[in-house]
Amino acid sequence: MKTTKKTPEKVEFVEEISESLANAIRRSASEIPILAIDEIEFIKNDSVLYDEVLALRLGLIPLKTPKDMIIREKCSCKGKGCSKCSIQLKICEKGPCVVYSKSMKGKTEAVYAEIPIVNLVQNQELELIATAKIGTGKEHTKFSPGLVYYRNVAEIETDSNCDSCKECVEACPQKILKINKNKIEFIDKYKCDLCESCVEECKKHGKNCIKIIPGKEIAFFIESWGQIPAEEIFYQAVKIIKNNLNQLK
Ligand SMILES: [Zn+2]
Repeated sequence: MKTTKKTPEKVEFVEEISESLANAIRRSASEIPILAIDEIEFIKNDSVLYDEVLALRLGLIPLKTPKDMIIREKCSCKGKGCSKCSIQLKICEKGPCVVYSKSMKGKTEAVYAEIPIVNLVQNQELELIATAKIGTGKEHTKFSPGLVYYRNVAEIETDSNCDSCKECVEACPQKILKINKNKIEFIDKYKCDLCESCVEECKKHGKNCIKIIPGKEIAFFIESWGQIPAEEIFYQAVKIIKNNLNQLK
């Protein structure tokens, strides 16, 4: 695989794989076990937000997922909830202040400390106990580890009628086209996002000599929400495909 970008948050690579395999990897990411808040007991809530709205906001905050945690449904506690499959987090704040994700105290913490949850004015109080559990994106999006998507790498085709007017080269917003011996070529094909500005520009001039077609290579993108590194999402997704195939066998 040709890696075009690699940071803890984002991985991009290019490879000649079939679309069905790429899609299988994408879908399997929603089976990776991820920690998220699932139940909340409100003790005090004087804030302007209803309990339900606060619960929704808290559920979507990415939490650091400890490695040894297991899905509640597969846990030895049989879905009751124990320390192996769930973590409790407490919030106890009094206004005036902004309650941030870092206000959650417990055995884990939010990936990003400064996510605002709610604003409290003088004498308003917020007190709650949240239970985070391990789940999968198949059950609810809040358990998904990030965004996984792919597209075909573009190929370019030039008609023999091309008179090298260079209008398409100018029209390209990414500036990745060049003319080489009456043929339009990519300077960097991995940067093409298939906007087709070049094709439109050509048609505007009454010609039709440039075509952008999907190539054999697939550009694959993984963006992590922060619970686990982007690279890990790929490895775990592949492992899940293998396990599922073995089960089918
Ligand atoms: Zn358990």
